[in-house]
Amino acid sequence: MLQFNKKMVYTNLLDPRENFSLKTIETEIRSDPLTGETGRLAHFGMITPQKEDYSAWDTPENYSLCPFCPDNIEKVTPKFPPDLLPEGRLRKGQTTILPNISPYDQYSALAVMSKAHVVPLEKMTAALLKDAFAAGIEFLCRINARENALPYQLMIWNYMPPSGGGLVHPHLQVISSDSPGNLYRKTLAKSKDYHRQFGQNYWQKLCVTEKKQGERFAGQVGTGFWLTPFVPLGVLGEFMVVFPEVRTIFEMDETTLQDLVAGMERLFAYFQSVGIASFNMGLFFAPAGEDEDCFSLHARFIPRTFLNLAQKPPDTNALQVVLQEPFTVVRPETQCAELKKFMKK
Ligand SMILES: [Zn+2]
Repeated sequence: MLQFNKKMVYTNLLDPRENFSLKTIETEIRSDPLTGETGRLAHFGMITPQKEDYSAWDTPENYSLCPFCPDNIEKVTPKFPPDLLPEGRLRKGQTTILPNISPYDQYSALAVMSKAHVVPLEKMTAALLKDAFAAGIEFLCRINARENALPYQLMIWNYMPPSGGGLVHPHLQVISSDSPGNLYRKTLAKSKDYHRQFGQNYWQKLCVTEKKQGERFAGQVGTGFWLTPFVPLGVLGEFMVVFPEVRTIFEMDETTLQDLVAGMERLFAYFQSVGIASFNMGLFFAPAGEDEDCFSLHARFIPRTFLNLAQKPPDTNALQVVLQEPFTVVRPETQCAELKKFMKK
């Protein structure tokens, strides 16, 4: 019931690196088993993570210019109006939830995750992660307890500049919307179609199938299944965790959060081992009251890098932007084999 379709295409050229002898180069075009959308595996090994020395930003001068640093956050960041959140800003551990002064949507908050300005992955502790996600979830649940709640709850993360993050001080975007973005909209629609056609939850089927096949199943951490998607969305691949039995944000309990964070710690240990120091992340819930059974909670982690540190070209180009076609320079199956060692720890 799950189709992992791919086709190989071949390019012949006379290779100057081998005295202009005839060489055949492979490109693999894959179709996502849920959406049918294509992505390609190409340029194998041609792009590698570029690691910057983030400690250079860890200076008092940078703290003084940063709105999220402890001396500034109270003075220069907005508060929620009393009818939305009487205390103005929501706090949990080191996390502060505040309104995004440049909102993306009606309810567009930020979760500033730490008091520290620069938090490289080796310092991104389980406590920081847990408090940030717990605070985001509490905020979303609170505004959704009000009248006219919006159906889609999103938490997304641009971590460090290659990901598009404009401020290095770590912060999540916490959004409640009736317009959740094209990827989510398509994923939800296709999950509903799958459920209608096969009488089954696609995400549960994906976990069972990938675990059985093994080549893209990295391991289980508590209730979370860690996978490398068949069609990755990033140049340096993609990593996904699925909680097959959890659907809406209201079902996100302490155990699920604990399992998510425990898996993230292992993923980040893997990232550090291969030099990945920036990523985009999205956490996707089923919409409450709308065919919940067809959708399971999942998160995507997409590593990002500059192509080099001299000109800092981004790792997105016309293929992704104009053709809307992801391409990846590493096989998900190869990455999965590497990640497995970290998921077992
Ligand atoms: Zn800061």
